[in-house]
Amino acid sequence: MTSQNPAANFVKQEVWEKDRDHFVHPWTDFSTFKESGSMVFQQADGVSVQDADGKRYLDGIGGLWCVNIGYGRDEIAEAVAEQIRAIPYFSTFGHHTTAPAARLAAKLAELAPGDLNHVFYGCGGSVANDTAVRLIHFYFNQLGKTSKKQIISRIDGYHGSTYMAMSITGVQFDHIGFDVERQLVHHISCPNPYRRPEEQSLEAFCDEKVQELEDKILELGPDNVAAFFAEPIMGAGGVIVPPPGYHQKTLAVCRKYDVLYVSDEVVTAFGRLGHMFASEDEFGIVPDIITCAKGLTSGYLPLGATIFSDRIYDVISKPQADGALFTHGFTYSGHPVSCAAGLKNIEIMEREGICDHVQDVGAYFEQRLHELKALPIIGDVRGRKFMMCLESVADKTTKELIAPEAKIGNRIADECQQRGLIVRPLAHMNILSPTLILSRQDVDFVVETLRESIEAATESLKVDGYLPR
Ligand code: PLP
Repeated sequence: MTSQNPAANFVKQEVWEKDRDHFVHPWTDFSTFKESGSMVFQQADGVSVQDADGKRYLDGIGGLWCVNIGYGRDEIAEAVAEQIRAIPYFSTFGHHTTAPAARLAAKLAELAPGDLNHVFYGCGGSVANDTAVRLIHFYFNQLGKTSKKQIISRIDGYHGSTYMAMSITGVQFDHIGFDVERQLVHHISCPNPYRRPEEQSLEAFCDEKVQELEDKILELGPDNVAAFFAEPIMGAGGVIVPPPGYHQKTLAVCRKYDVLYVSDEVVTAFGRLGHMFASEDEFGIVPDIITCAKGLTSGYLPLGATIFSDRIYDVISKPQADGALFTHGFTYSGHPVSCAAGLKNIEIMEREGICDHVQDVGAYFEQRLHELKALPIIGDVRGRKFMMCLESVADKTTKELIAPEAKIGNRIADECQQRGLIVRPLAHMNILSPTLILSRQDVDFVVETLRESIEAATESLKVDGYLPR
């Protein structure tokens, strides 16, 4: 579809070509990209985005699980412009600071659970996790426990794309064709209740997964294990909600062996599950470190944070070797403009009661999406509030998957897009992580559009011989 306006068509073509020829996109198959190029977005407001032809789509993925307060917030634009005029940047190395960086750190300390009162800033989630690793190693070095270095995480956990964060990531697909650090990181299995043996109770399944963590610590030697990384709900690995009690029990194992617990809340924080942080409010744990990004500024500007406990801060602030420092940090750590956006974002969330809204409309979203389980190819609907996933299967009883080359996730996403809804395909799954300001009417639109799209995709699978007629 092209616009009626020739000037707009020219701009669209110009952007499309420059993008195709020069912008190396993240997470992209370049063999097909060279042919198809990108869909160009140029406008957004509220829960929706518009493409270069002016077609509107309800954004069912919240940018990338991040535009929590929705698009078009003038207040953020103003706070950002005001900060740029006042002081756009100054180094925070050593003894310099700016008001937004200090105020946001205090606000995060107030919102974070327990004694997590100390904030280290970076520009995103991967860096927040890398910072956690460096911080943990420094912490144990300071304590003289210099052998405590090993990191444990889970298959299907996603922790980012820098070298270390990708090594901690356990999604096997993400490692294809790349190298990762294998000496320092160890993966235990994914606590995915949908894929547990049919005869096994949820409780037994949970205990087995917790035991696996303890066994791994004992295998590596508690004196060598530094930390366990876990998302409260695994996001990019397929929105896996662990069985009840899993986080509390794994935290208890970590405490037993002096292993630090890092809760990766890059997706789950700032309202997505109806709380500012999900670790304690949704899952009843106070970890040693929380990493966050995304919803911290609702994606308006890049910002990430590693929030850690008094206990860790006390240790890292003890005098060390003469003249030595905590030699970690980035030019943009505590960037005042990003921090100003973060502060305004949290102010808006609190003033508008976004978490209460998510508790209410997010519960409705969950309930309505579960209706789609009645469709013949939807094997599982899972997640909580505004973090949801649909898993398609060829056979609901055996849970056998549809042939990967059928690309069922893409088929459903394409059908949705034609009908004005963006959802994220992930192999045989589709992920939903919309803005948190969705109304009940928006939820109805999403669910009905998904229903029609899944039905159309199912038909196409039959036509192409992937499913029996
Ligand atoms: N951790 C989790 C749980 C994530 O979902 C992501 C990104 O999706 C990251 C870390 C990495 O964050 P970023 O892409 O901002 O580096």
